[in-house]
Amino acid sequence: MIPETNRTPPEVTRFAPSPTGLLHLGHAFAAGFAAQAAAGGRFLLRLEDIDITRTKPEYEAALYEDLAWLGLEWETPVRRQSEHFADYQQALDRLATMDLLYPCFCTRKEIQEEIARAGHAPHGPDGALYPGTCRALSIPDRATRVQRGDAYALRLDVHRAKSTVTAPLLWHDIDHGTHEARPEIFGDVVLARKETPTSYHLAVVVDDALQGITLVTRGADLLEATHLHRLLQELLNLPVPRWRHHRLIVDEDGKRLAKRDDARSLRTLRAEGWTAERVWEAVG
Ligand code: GLU
Repeated sequence: MIPETNRTPPEVTRFAPSPTGLLHLGHAFAAGFAAQAAAGGRFLLRLEDIDITRTKPEYEAALYEDLAWLGLEWETPVRRQSEHFADYQQALDRLATMDLLYPCFCTRKEIQEEIARAGHAPHGPDGALYPGTCRALSIPDRATRVQRGDAYALRLDVHRAKSTVTAPLLWHDIDHGTHEARPEIFGDVVLARKETPTSYHLAVVVDDALQGITLVTRGADLLEATHLHRLLQELLNLPVPRWRHHRLIVDEDGKRLAKRDDARSLRTLRAEGWTAERVWEAVG
């Protein structure tokens, strides 16, 4: 699965699923890829369960069962993001001290209306970019609204953040080469909300650093996210891993597999008599 040409000293890799559904062939491939990339090193598992409303204990249990059935072995204890909100808060505090965050009080509807008024909307990997409405609020206005209890999200002022970095911000993917980070393609991303006090982007960089990950392997759908992750690593003074963004497993129609396709889950395939070997052949 992994060409031998790029072998380096033992790597620390991780598979980081969200326990919000049953694993499918795409997860098997991603987990196998990470485990193989760690050969001779360490393979870790991390549960990305910050969305506590969608996370279910039965999915977590199913996930361990499926991975063990596939013959994978990982270190314990497994890191559960929901148990580490204090770590993400510390990172947010640091960014706030650097004056790189601002509270955004816009509802989704207000953002859509603002974009419609503007008549155009630059798009990034996650959709239309935030038009920056709340970035323009004065400091006293922000304080008044926070004090009176208005709900808000914390956004990264991406241009200001990038301007604090003077050296070229580079990141390296073993298969796709060296890139200059372009975090601005995401606009002013949300890094925390009231109900979810961290975002995927923030939690991932904090955890990869705390877990000592040297090689981040994940699907090519997250390649662009790395532009932002690299900036966050720089701002937070975290070690910079290398990356391998791998292909995605698709169905017969060329569509990416989704967790909602229960019919294609590893659990269903197993019940139908598939063996782990057949799974590896199918994704190989
Ligand atoms: N939890 C993410 C996913 O399910 C993976 C994140 C990552 O590997 O950085 O796609």
